[in-house]
Amino acid sequence: MKDYTHIFFDLDHTLWDFEKNCSETLSDLFREFQLSKFGIVQDDFIRTYKSVNYQMWDDYNRGRLNKEQIRSLRFPFTFEQMGLKREDVPANLNEEFLRICPAKGHVVPFAHEVLDYLSKRYFLHIITNGFKETQHIKISTSDIGKYFQEVIHSEICGWKKPDKAIFEYAIGKINSSCEECIMIGDDLFTDILGARNAGMDHVFFNRYHQQHNQPVMHEINCLRDLKNLL
Ligand SMILES: [Mg+2]
Repeated sequence: MKDYTHIFFDLDHTLWDFEKNCSETLSDLFREFQLSKFGIVQDDFIRTYKSVNYQMWDDYNRGRLNKEQIRSLRFPFTFEQMGLKREDVPANLNEEFLRICPAKGHVVPFAHEVLDYLSKRYFLHIITNGFKETQHIKISTSDIGKYFQEVIHSEICGWKKPDKAIFEYAIGKINSSCEECIMIGDDLFTDILGARNAGMDHVFFNRYHQQHNQPVMHEINCLRDLKNLL
């Protein structure tokens, strides 16, 4: 393993446990808005929302949707997919989601242990495509801000992963070079292709053992594996 100085982490799904935080939020909302009155069950609602949201974020990362479309359409699309009408979506559902979800603080297993270990040996930073106003709440609620020097937001710098420009911007911001850096993330398109575009070493965090045939430099299923790797 090379002698790195800086480690870049992705945030959602890599450190901040999106699956768990999102499921908890949706089940809170299911109760709060009494969504069972529409004849739907909570597990289907959560599963459908996650699949709609995943697809919309993929479209966002590929430049096919904008932020406002994600925010205004994810619940209407979820309702539609469940055989309900778009107009049935309660007025404040999305606002409540945006208020509650980022304030959930679950992190991926071993995140604190691994970040504590790595932050004593490297400079750690975050590169995220997530929305800037929610990302800082997630970082603060999950108490991981103390491990990081820089947080690079795509919305602030103007480029999204996998564009190599965001990696070059990040490297410039920390006054480093590509050779001294390694990227860790859960997304083959944004994080791994992005690092490859930038010529940066990378680790694919494949928590759910996703099948793929993309060339990756290192692959782990548990964050703890980083302690052996780095
Ligand atoms: Mg991610």
